[in-house]
Amino acid sequence: MDYDVFISFPLTEHRSSFKETINTKDFYIAKKIHSVLQNLLHVHTFFSDVSLLDNDKTDFWAKIHEVIPRSLVLVIVLTKAKDYERFYCAEERRLYYESHPSDKRKIYFVCSKAVKRHIKEFDIFDVEEGKPEIILWEELRQQQKFYNFINNYFGKNEPGKDEEVLICTKCEKVFYKDNHIGTMCVHHDKSEIKVDEETLSVRFNCCNKVIRIENKNALFDIAPGCVQEPNHTFE
Ligand SMILES: [Zn+2]
Ligand SMILES: [Zn+2]
Repeated sequence: MDYDVFISFPLTEHRSSFKETINTKDFYIAKKIHSVLQNLLHVHTFFSDVSLLDNDKTDFWAKIHEVIPRSLVLVIVLTKAKDYERFYCAEERRLYYESHPSDKRKIYFVCSKAVKRHIKEFDIFDVEEGKPEIILWEELRQQQKFYNFINNYFGKNEPGKDEEVLICTKCEKVFYKDNHIGTMCVHHDKSEIKVDEETLSVRFNCCNKVIRIENKNALFDIAPGCVQEPNHTFE
């Protein structure tokens, strides 16, 4: 089966001062992107949470070799510059470049602000044409742009409407083709969030609610929450 999008990211890292490994922030971002593309936009997306460290590398690697040449768009997720050179990340990029001539490449580089400062050091930007498009994950407006780029690339937005994917700046939910209409914006106050990496908990000071997170890199929802507004807010 062919894929529209392949998501490449570093999967695990060592928990500081422990031997145990945990999923990277990149994994959680990639998982979120996969869920929006696959479930909301119906863009066929390859995302694997199989660890190459725990599983049969040969089988998994064979699968990657089969999938990448048949994926149209490459999405690279990177929040730490040092992970750019990781073996499997580099290998996935190499496979994509090898199987896609320059006029067939479409690459989105979803990164953190910290990574953007190192962009000149990365070889995929050291080209005249076909530079990857940079998306800053910390900015919701850029996430919204990214989903619309992908949607427009696959011709899924209605003609003349190139921003059919919208992200509410308050509840951070992703909407598509007006499916926010008739729903309330129910969220916690973003300025009242306190993350405690020691106890792996998030406290919403607006209402004193505490939730647990799987590890320090996990993303969490600020909706539903204690603040109710009749409409969502879009930029
Ligand atoms: Zn609250
Ligand atoms: Zn909202």
